[in-house]
Amino acid sequence: MSKVKPKAFATLCGRIFRDTDPQYFPSAEHRGKRILLCTDACLGAFLADPDVFCKVHRNSDKTAARMKSEIQHLIGLWSTYDSTKKSD
Ligand SMILES: [Zn+2]
Repeated sequence: MSKVKPKAFATLCGRIFRDTDPQYFPSAEHRGKRILLCTDACLGAFLADPDVFCKVHRNSDKTAARMKSEIQHLIGLWSTYDSTKKSD
């Protein structure tokens, strides 16, 4: 079993986390898919009614997936321009 540590990941509720280990976040299984939640409160809401939670967050989940790939793209850019760090 290879352990892959993603640099960025999205929770089901649509939040993006970067440079954080997903193992520290609450997770659950839904329809055979492993999903992550941002907080225990979020996990509680999901467990209370998984289908409603997914329906409510469907759009943010899609957005999150798109943002995740954008963030990974940005991480690549940041490492490319590492010598010219921007302070924001
Ligand atoms: Zn959440």
